[in-house]
Amino acid sequence: MAGSSQISAVDVLIVGGGIVGSACAALTSRAGASVTLIETNSELGLGASAAKSGLLTTAADGRSGSAYARFSALALERLRAIIPILETETGASAQVIRSRHLRIAAGTDEETLLDSYLGASDLRQPDEMMVDGEALRANRPWLSRKVTRGIIGGHAHHLQPSSFLKILACACRQAGVTIETGVKVASLKRRNSRIVGVRLADGRVVRAGTTVLAAGFESAALLTSIGQAIRLLPVRGQMAIVQGLEEIDILEDVISTGRGYIVPKPGGLIVIGATHERDNNKPILTLGGMGTLARIASVVPALTRLPIVGTFTGIRPMSPDGLPLIGPVPDTQGLLVATGHGSHGVLLSVATGEAIRDMAAGYSVTTDLATFDPRRWVGREHHAAIQVEGAL
Ligand SMILES: Cc1cc2nc3c(=O)[nH]c(=O)nc-3n(C[C@H](O)[C@H](O)[C@H](O)COP(=O)(O)OP(=O)(O)OC[C@H]3O[C@@H](n4cnc5c(N)ncnc54)[C@H](O)[C@@H]3O)c2cc1C
Repeated sequence: MAGSSQISAVDVLIVGGGIVGSACAALTSRAGASVTLIETNSELGLGASAAKSGLLTTAADGRSGSAYARFSALALERLRAIIPILETETGASAQVIRSRHLRIAAGTDEETLLDSYLGASDLRQPDEMMVDGEALRANRPWLSRKVTRGIIGGHAHHLQPSSFLKILACACRQAGVTIETGVKVASLKRRNSRIVGVRLADGRVVRAGTTVLAAGFESAALLTSIGQAIRLLPVRGQMAIVQGLEEIDILEDVISTGRGYIVPKPGGLIVIGATHERDNNKPILTLGGMGTLARIASVVPALTRLPIVGTFTGIRPMSPDGLPLIGPVPDTQGLLVATGHGSHGVLLSVATGEAIRDMAAGYSVTTDLATFDPRRWVGREHHAAIQVEGAL
């Protein structure tokens, strides 16, 4: 009978096949653990992880000197180290590109952001320097006259998240991970204070030594099944992709503004992103969102006249302090959380996967990782608080 059937126990069970869960699965299995990855959608990476930008710029703007700044830098280093290895092993490309990076400001508020970035010696790149709008337009006549200042001399990496996900899926299969797609995890299965696996929506039970909750924004609902709660805010992001910019040569520059970014991709595609709509868990496109994207694109007026050839909307899992949640849950054994990566889950995916791999193997965590301890936003007291908030 389906209701009582069991899948044999694995060392590590990952719930959620977005970029974070897939990286956790690939890296944990490569260390020798038996791993099962369960994803409710028909394919991996159809949630927030399907966003097209794939920017790997620092996650720590405004957080100079913090553990997050160090984790963000480590994350880029680890991605750049592991991707070529996985590309060789899988024969596929993540389409990592290193572009010139132009940070621009239109008006005093955005200029303040540039000043604080340039003053952060651990975030800025050695050759970056501030120039005024006229100097920028001397080499980039396609920039709007409303651009008042900019930082040139930096570089930004970006990749194609869908391609990286394919590589992670392939690496998982090569390392023997069982990937189940189209299967929803209904609840966590508990014996006393230990999580011993999950119950699937089809009634089957999967037993595991360690269960990793990497279900993005949906992680909150699964923790509720064991009387815990997690403070995760849904932050919707909309983006648009335009094509056909032949008359100007911006294909070398990733452009960051105070509001968003413009990322040129292979094939003449240009990704314009993204809205940050807090407390919004409906992945829909809106006219308001398109208006925000038009304002972001307006720093290069020619972009606003191009045809939109693609769109995307997704829900970022964001913790109240904007930092990820990586580690154990209070009063509970056998359960790790890997979520809350907000706007930087692609950048932080490999570093998170390596941290989860080490925690699942029982290694102690570094001091810096303690900053991301889920206990700050996960626990029974948050369950009570969230229920009260919900009643208001
Ligand atoms: C518009 C936009 C642009 C972005 N741009 C960038 C960028 O340039 N660079 C960057 O680093 N980051 C970017 N991000 C952020 C990044 O996409 C996210 O941080 C990241 O995708 C989060 O990954 P995740 O695996 O935690 O979540 P998700 O991708 O949401 O994956 C969670 C998975 O869990 C599955 N799931 C949920 N519930 C269950 C269940 N009960 N059972 C089984 N499976 C379940 C879901 O189907 C989903 O596939 C962007 C996000 C958005 C929305």
